[in-house]
Amino acid sequence: MFAKKSLGQNFLIQPQISIDMVTSAQISKEDTVVEIGPGTGVLTKELLRTAKKVYAIEKDDRLIDPLKETFKEEISSGLLEIIHDDVLKTKPPTEPYKIVANIPYYITGKIIRHFFDQTHQPKSMTLLVQKEVAERVIAREGKESILSMSIKIYGTPHYMKTVKAGNFNPVPKVDSAILHISDISRQNFENISEEHFFTLLHTGFQSKRKKLSKNIKELVSPDTFETCKIPLDARAEDISLENWVCLSK
Ligand code: SAM
Repeated sequence: MFAKKSLGQNFLIQPQISIDMVTSAQISKEDTVVEIGPGTGVLTKELLRTAKKVYAIEKDDRLIDPLKETFKEEISSGLLEIIHDDVLKTKPPTEPYKIVANIPYYITGKIIRHFFDQTHQPKSMTLLVQKEVAERVIAREGKESILSMSIKIYGTPHYMKTVKAGNFNPVPKVDSAILHISDISRQNFENISEEHFFTLLHTGFQSKRKKLSKNIKELVSPDTFETCKIPLDARAEDISLENWVCLSK
């Protein structure tokens, strides 16, 4: 069966990477896991060995029957449920859950956003993403971005491991990395609104070369910068999550 580029299909061919993902996610027999895009089931197999229950959401019609055949015992025992749908249209399970997935890279941002937006958020997300995306999320170069802040406001990102392109078939053009986001909650929004925070963030990053105080002058006064101990000449990429929360307040 040929891989569909339009569905971001790069299948894992090295089972060790699945073990690394499950270890990074700290999956145990207490955990319910949502897997996005089980594909041919390499990661699913490892999840079934370690988790209490797995929900695997796959969009590609061609993969559903082979998955049902491969895992017929696990499906009949209730350990696995295959959901044939677009992940962005699904609702999460009602019990506490973790996400572990080798996701289609073309919708990385949308998938993360979709689960953060749910009333019932995951406890953690462990995702195989493009290496450069994982580096941007943890601000490896010391520069923050809309992406890094949109994740840090809900959880703590960790760069777990680089995964070379040769571990997939077809071989992608870029290397990947295991990104683990722990401690997911809405705790930062106890005193500020999500809508205001994201409006401020997007306005702040509108002209990256300009000073932040200029970008958000319609929303935040220079006095607030002083209160939050942020230099007036700082750029959006230079300030921390605590600074953004303070400005939003
Ligand atoms: N988990 C498999 C592995 O590691 O070999 C496959 C990973 S592949 C990078 C991404 C998978 O996500 C494919 O199986 C693809 O069909 C599926 N997929 C793509 N878009 C999707 C969507 N919107 N909803 C659910 N699954 C999707």
